Amino acid sequence: MSPTQDADVIVVGAGFAGLTAARELRRQGHRVLVLEARDRIGGRTWTDIRFGRDLEMGGTWVHWVQPHVWAEMTRYGFDTTPSPIPVHGYWISGGERRSGTAEDLLGLIDRGMTGSTAQALEHFPHPYQPLQGGDRLAEIDKLSIRTKLEQLDLTPEEFDAVEGMWATNFNGPTENGGYAQALRWVALTGGSWQLNFEACATYKIVGGTRGLAEAMAADSGAEIRTGARVTSIEQDDTEARLALDDGSHLTAGAVVVTLPLNVLDSVTFEPPLAEGKRRAAQQGQTSRGLKVWARLRGEYEPFVAISPSSGPLTLCQVEHVDNGETIVVAFGSDSRKLDGSDPTAVQDALRQWLPDVEVLDVASHDWVDDDLSGETWPMQRSGQLTESLAELQRPEGRIFLAGSDYANGWAGFIDGAIESGMRTSREVHGQLTAIEPVTSFEDRSPAQS
Ligand SMILES: Cc1cc2nc3c(=O)[nH]c(=O)nc-3n(C[C@H](O)[C@H](O)[C@H](O)COP(=O)(O)OP(=O)(O)OC[C@H]3O[C@@H](n4cnc5c(N)ncnc54)[C@H](O)[C@@H]3O)c2cc1C
Repeated sequence: MSPTQDADVIVVGAGFAGLTAARELRRQGHRVLVLEARDRIGGRTWTDIRFGRDLEMGGTWVHWVQPHVWAEMTRYGFDTTPSPIPVHGYWISGGERRSGTAEDLLGLIDRGMTGSTAQALEHFPHPYQPLQGGDRLAEIDKLSIRTKLEQLDLTPEEFDAVEGMWATNFNGPTENGGYAQALRWVALTGGSWQLNFEACATYKIVGGTRGLAEAMAADSGAEIRTGARVTSIEQDDTEARLALDDGSHLTAGAVVVTLPLNVLDSVTFEPPLAEGKRRAAQQGQTSRGLKVWARLRGEYEPFVAISPSSGPLTLCQVEHVDNGETIVVAFGSDSRKLDGSDPTAVQDALRQWLPDVEVLDVASHDWVDDDLSGETWPMQRSGQLTESLAELQRPEGRIFLAGSDYANGWAGFIDGAIESGMRTSREVHGQLTAIEPVTSFEDRSPAQS
């Protein structure tokens, strides 16, 4: 720690990982500066005013089975409000529209969801130590979720519905969505896919994710500079030096980098990050889909709708019904297939389930095209868990990666961002208070909590 440095720790990014790390490091007495390229905090969570109300453009749902985010909800006194319970179900089979109750649809996907996740606890008995499985884990990590589904002897109707469900979960193609990622995920809910579904799509934060992010930012006491984009990070035995896009430079004893994996190589590191990290960044997460809100004419009874990933949207559900209108949220597995800002295109996509639907307005943000995210919620490809996670978690000298992309447990979620921010802050504190100086960028054992 040198008083000549601009901060003891610079945190790059003010999403949930960065805000958590900043708060924890401030509490441990370090001088912390947060640099955020956007004009707001929250990162891939963004409560924005659309259709005259607060709508979540990114991360939304939280649950008490997600321990890190739930602890923050308790700490700052936030409550949840549920999404409506669906009554009707719509699905597509062989290109044809089918309908029934929501229970019918959940029953239709049960065999495929149960079969595709049956080995969750066998391979991930301790989900927060996702790499314990050794050679057997490496073997199953080669499989994609689609390959696993093809092994299950499902009827074509079951296959289409379950494939749509997994394309939604991955927010990407099932062809390269990791089977191990699917198991790791469901292990977090004790092997129950139903509880997992509830955890991922039911309870929203009263006051929005914005409220929680603002509470954490205020509590941190850290200086947060928005509109501050980091372009390069150099480190040597004495300090880390960061260059910003306005031409300014800052120095610190350690840097917490919370960039999503798909944009990690948008910052130049000197010396370069290890080959394994660079390879993972070039490959990127598989989550390149979209989330879109639509305002519909008429009041619909709550429904859930699923379609295979061959279509532009894979899941849709009702969120608000009032004043003769319905607001739905929908997801697609490939952002290139549908322009979420085009009401006519979204209407056409929704008509696969609701042939007469009339879309009045749409709202979305293209996270994939956004050069500060490049992905939606991070989900691993086949092979990525065993090939990359340990390396991505390994600090290099003064540089520490943190973020939902690098979490042990709920990777891909707000919870994972907070978990990773907690773990990383502990490691940074350890390094800054160590008697031994940082002398080299030698290998360390992978960080595991
Ligand atoms: C559409 C969508 C739906 C989702 N739904 C859910 C959900 O329902 N529940 C849930 O728990 N999670 C959900 N998620 C995932 C969740 O939002 C993320 O996993 C989590 O918010 C990631 O936090 P983070 O801090 O790791 O990364 P980010 O939030 O991405 O934070 C990284 C920050 O770094 C900044 N940054 C990038 N480059 C630079 C640079 N060069 N210089 C300075 N700053 C930079 C970015 O602007 C960003 O603010 C969803 C995400 C999306 C996109």
